[in-house]
Amino acid sequence: MGELANCARCDKVFVKTNKSICPDCVREDEKQFQTVYDFLKKRENRQATIPEIVEATGVEEDVILQFVKDKRIRSTQFPNLSYPCERCGEPIASGKVCENCRNELTSDLRYQNEIEQVEQKNEQQEKQRAKTYYTRINND
Ligand SMILES: [Zn+2]
Ligand SMILES: [Zn+2]
Repeated sequence: MGELANCARCDKVFVKTNKSICPDCVREDEKQFQTVYDFLKKRENRQATIPEIVEATGVEEDVILQFVKDKRIRSTQFPNLSYPCERCGEPIASGKVCENCRNELTSDLRYQNEIEQVEQKNEQQEKQRAKTYYTRINND
């Protein structure tokens, strides 16, 4: 007996598959993907931007962005496909955040690690001090 789940798109209950959306939505998705892909396949449309694709195909921007994020439509093939960085909104063509934000997040992470290391050291010193104290009492 399959596990039930709510479709992430239409909220309908369906027997869970490896996808987060129900079979109806998958079919709809496929149809929209085909529409977008057929449009982009044409040589004159290779340079199309997302708003142009939305206008030409009637497929919603979010859906097209999902295709790009899932790498079903490759931004290497279609250079003008980009979507906003999740942090600052700069247009990007791969990943979740732009180069700048990625660098900032990495240094944030490094900073975070340093803080943790200092905290750990303090904690150890604290324990050490407590131990010394007890030892001293015991020796008396
Ligand atoms: Zn659905
Ligand atoms: Zn950014």
